[in-house]
Amino acid sequence: MRRSSLFRTDLLVVVAVAIVYFLCAAAAIAFTILSGNVALLWIANAVLVATLLTRPATERPLHVASCFAASVAASVALSPYTALAPVFGVANIAEALIAWALLRRFNIDARLFLSLRPLAVFVATAGVIAPLVTGVIPAAALALYSGADPWVVWMSWGIGHGLGMLIGTPIALLVLAGTTYRDQSAGPAALPRFTGIALLLIAVTSLCFAQTRLPLLFVPILPLIAATMAFRVAGATLGVFAIALIGAAFMVAGIGPLQMIDGDEAFRLQFFQFYLSVLFLIAVPFATMIAHNQRLAASVAVSEARYRLMANHVSDVVLTLDPQGAVQFASPSIREVTGHAPESMIGKNPAAMVHEVDRERVREAYRRVVAEPETVHRFEFRVHTATGGIRWFETTARAVRDADQAVLSVVTVIREVSHRKAREADLLRQANTDPMTGVLNRRAFQDRIDRFRTDTPDRPATLALFDLDHFKQVNDGHGHDAGDAALLHFADVLRANLRVEDVIGRLGGEEFAVLFPGLSTAAAMAACERVRNSLQDARIHAGGATFTITVSAGIAPVRPTLSSDEVFRIADAALYRAKSRGRNRSELASG
Ligand code: GH3
Ligand code: MG
Ligand code: MG
Repeated sequence: MRRSSLFRTDLLVVVAVAIVYFLCAAAAIAFTILSGNVALLWIANAVLVATLLTRPATERPLHVASCFAASVAASVALSPYTALAPVFGVANIAEALIAWALLRRFNIDARLFLSLRPLAVFVATAGVIAPLVTGVIPAAALALYSGADPWVVWMSWGIGHGLGMLIGTPIALLVLAGTTYRDQSAGPAALPRFTGIALLLIAVTSLCFAQTRLPLLFVPILPLIAATMAFRVAGATLGVFAIALIGAAFMVAGIGPLQMIDGDEAFRLQFFQFYLSVLFLIAVPFATMIAHNQRLAASVAVSEARYRLMANHVSDVVLTLDPQGAVQFASPSIREVTGHAPESMIGKNPAAMVHEVDRERVREAYRRVVAEPETVHRFEFRVHTATGGIRWFETTARAVRDADQAVLSVVTVIREVSHRKAREADLLRQANTDPMTGVLNRRAFQDRIDRFRTDTPDRPATLALFDLDHFKQVNDGHGHDAGDAALLHFADVLRANLRVEDVIGRLGGEEFAVLFPGLSTAAAMAACERVRNSLQDARIHAGGATFTITVSAGIAPVRPTLSSDEVFRIADAALYRAKSRGRNRSELASG
């Protein structure tokens, strides 16, 4: 259950903020008001802005009211212009509200010191616009009340309040914004380092401001940078604040390099404000950049660790390649998959491992990966393993680009698919094979003829059709199983008597066909006669009987001018002739 908004109002915080506001206001009035002017370093409003940025909405009206009261109280107690206390109160609260509203308008929250854009907006709105806008109120009031130069009052208010906002807001946020600005560098372990740098900064700054002979104002920058590098936003803002306090203390005592300035005290104080503003603008953006880079480095380290963990423990191979294809990283699993050690792959182009037949295709695919970085690409190829074998792989690849959109590297995940490829090849073989004899089935045989004719249209070839003689009698006399055995025997006779490149198919029943690529009809005829003679001489033992069978063949040239159907028809006519002329013979197509 959500807690009711009433309980989220913390009166203790309201009181504490009001007290701090009062103390800051009182100190500014007591120590920084010179010759009929406004206070020259006003930090109190920064406390209110930081409070509005961090506390719950229900608390905000209370803070506005109590800080207004604190402002009026401080003026009444310490200001020479007691009568104007409510006017100054209104100007102060208006300034804080304008700064807060502008920050909200630009979606800037309490994390504003963690990146540069919000920081720049903060400097422009809270540091410049809000003080200059509200400075009009005291300028007019003091001009009417005491005849002060409104221009001088307006400038002094703008500079003093702007500077106070810049220095005060980050310090207040360090206190109010919880863990936003506290990290490992803020733990107790950092205390000795913090003390060391703080002492160094205090000592160096004190030495510089304790003398009036040399303009050593640039020297405190050194310990300030050290503090910034060590503690980032906290180091930068506390450092500037410390320099402001030390410099102001010596100035009040009439000592320090600022006394060397030719001008009155107000002028020197303005110069000191200018000096502090420059210090702020050196240190805080620098701190913000360091913090930003550290966060970036941390998130890169996390994603890198995650990626390494995955790359090191998946069975797939993860390869990172440069745009030219040289290996930048190879995951350990590459050893199991290819036999190559991962470190031996670095700098090498794995294309050399790809099978020659696939290599150019893989190179082309890789060029596409680099050329189309938006897309995930997938391609398959064979690889020579270290042991001399061949395996199939499937690669998923994607290019990684840098900030300038140039391809930095290509990340690939490579998976072995040899089993899948073997299964695919198996299925293809099954689909193309006559299950009984192991030769091509009718459809596959026809495909092979068509492919031969389209791939090598000018190459001569011959087609032979075989039909076993009186096969019905084999079945009838010896049984169907004996008939099957005879079919198997005939397929063996074909294989034994033909060349490897000759294509054998079973068209159905006891009809077979052979394509003789590159052979003239005469040479094919000789081959068919070899088959016929070999068959008639062999004795087949099956079903307890021993018998012989014969075959007739019809032979036709595969001419480019004829369709496959016509070639089959002509060969079939020759076969018919062989049958009618007495069987157990080969006939050449006429004409
Ligand atoms: P011909 O010399 O004229 O060709 O006479 P044939 O008896 O061989 O006649 P035909 O070619 O018309 O008959 C083919 C026979 O082959 C018919 C069928 O009983 C037999 N046959 C077809 N397929 C198979 C098979 O797979 N196994 C067995 N055992 N017999 C088959
Ligand atoms: Mg037949
Ligand atoms: Mg027959």
